[in-house]
Amino acid sequence: VTEFEIIRAYFATQPVQRADVRLGIGDDAAVVQAPPSMETVITTDVLVAGVHFFDDVDPAALGHKALAVNLSDLAAMGAAPAWFLLDLTLPKVDKAWLEAFAHGLHELALTYQVQLIGGDTSSGPLAVAITAIGLVPQGKSMRRDGARPGDLIYVTGTLGDAALVLAARRGEYGVTAGDVAAVRQRLERPDPRIAEGVGLRDLASSAIDISDGLIADLGHVLEASKVGARVNLGAIPVSATYRAQMRKIGLDYALAGGDDYELCVTVPRADAIRAESLALASGFSLTRIGEIIIGNTLEILDSMGRPYQPKRKGYEHFTRG
Ligand code: ADP
Ligand code: MG
Repeated sequence: VTEFEIIRAYFATQPVQRADVRLGIGDDAAVVQAPPSMETVITTDVLVAGVHFFDDVDPAALGHKALAVNLSDLAAMGAAPAWFLLDLTLPKVDKAWLEAFAHGLHELALTYQVQLIGGDTSSGPLAVAITAIGLVPQGKSMRRDGARPGDLIYVTGTLGDAALVLAARRGEYGVTAGDVAAVRQRLERPDPRIAEGVGLRDLASSAIDISDGLIADLGHVLEASKVGARVNLGAIPVSATYRAQMRKIGLDYALAGGDDYELCVTVPRADAIRAESLALASGFSLTRIGEIIIGNTLEILDSMGRPYQPKRKGYEHFTRG
């Protein structure tokens, strides 16, 4: 099997055909036509076996997740996804594996009408890198540096489910696979919050996607915006599955677990009602968890107003021995 046969069999024929793709897979490069009124938003993320996923990962879930984490970054910028590139290094050609991987990938691509327009394929240790490209109206992208004192802090969805699933897999805190069955997909097949990001881009003063845990990622917003934040522990949204385990695990997975792929946005007070109404009308979950304050500290307060010290701060590469 040659590289070209792999490309032809699994990637060149695909479900999404956009009119703005002038030239897709098959030439030296792709050619796309962005509308003149739009800005182009570009992001990339690599997933490496043994670092980001287990070697025995379900290939369909991997295909989904590799694209989902990139679409999550586009969502955090307020961009609608348009195109993507796929770089694959494979230790061997396993047709069943490739078939399932491509299926998971193409299924999510179809959901968001994002077209695969090229990539690279090589032998090597198993790794998947995707570059995703999206479109946002001129000047409307959401950045990390726009939060201002007085803005309200919101998160989409629920936090901590992916970390809870990972905890069950590691047998931590006596949490079992059965306990977390209802939220298993949160780790394996995260949903990028595209509707949320696109909907909130006209209202939010800043945004970030929560990939390394709320504390770490909200921390990036505070640093970039040169502000502090006060977060109410009791307001952190968690799933019913998470709540049922809370006596054992506490809230640290929700605060610092990672792999949530929810959005954290700040909204000026004047736009808070509009943001909350938009979420209601669009049918997505948006929970107010605190506010931006002057300074540079992240204060987490429990229900008695006492400062809460989480035991973990979030995932960072290279810092763990
Ligand atoms: P070149 O040698 O000109 O860089 P390649 O041989 O790497 O081109 O790829 C041939 C064509 O197949 C290109 O259009 C490239 O974008 C596409 N391609 C290669 N690998 C992938 C992949 N994993 N997914 C999608 N398209 C791919
Ligand atoms: Mg070439």
